[in-house]
Amino acid sequence: MTIALFHDDAYARECDAMVVRVEPGQVVLDRSIFYPTGGGQPGDTGSLVAGGREIRVVGTVKGEGGEVIHQVEGLAPLAVGQAVSATIDWSRRHRLMRFHTALHLLCAVVDAPVTGGRMAEDKAHLDFDIDMSLLDAGVIEARLNALVEADLPVEAGAIRDEELDANPGLVKTMSVQPPRGQGSVRTIRVGDVDYQPCGGTHLKRTGEIGRLRVARIRSEGRRNKRVTLIFADDPV
Ligand SMILES: [Zn+2]
Repeated sequence: MTIALFHDDAYARECDAMVVRVEPGQVVLDRSIFYPTGGGQPGDTGSLVAGGREIRVVGTVKGEGGEVIHQVEGLAPLAVGQAVSATIDWSRRHRLMRFHTALHLLCAVVDAPVTGGRMAEDKAHLDFDIDMSLLDAGVIEARLNALVEADLPVEAGAIRDEELDANPGLVKTMSVQPPRGQGSVRTIRVGDVDYQPCGGTHLKRTGEIGRLRVARIRSEGRRNKRVTLIFADDPV
């Protein structure tokens, strides 16, 4: 199992670690700041440096038993037990954190079950099971930006499995059930507007998201009405 440093500190850009497994295309470390793809958030990219050589990490995914797998090209020139210095592509990750935190606000603004969601570097969306006539881009955008300006705190916590089972309404994303069986599940609280299980990486405060724009509202099927967000200060 890889120690998930990104859960304790989403702002950590680099860490020292030790190689525990090397296979063609894969490197596993004892601890990592690389977030593995999950919950609609893409895995991190970055680099591992050892012995003066830099190895590019093109993606990160979850492995068996809580392993974090760093995806590399070919067989990395690393040995088990070797020390490496790991660095994530911070500007990319920070944009993903801004979008991820923005999607929590979108959850708070649109009162409907979430049927799916995804974020990328340049945009993010949630799908809602809702009537199209209830989605007004101007209203959603104004409410989102009010919550950004309110600069709400974002705090991680935990909820016991039994407590979560007794409060199924906390799970807002119908398509993704939080991982049970560890005794507790990680939660995220955004001010007093959103509280739900979530394993992603978030900002400390909503003000850091910056102004948002609703780029598009589109039907993606009977139960999927998609609201797509972009950053207002990005060049179009
Ligand atoms: Zn989250």
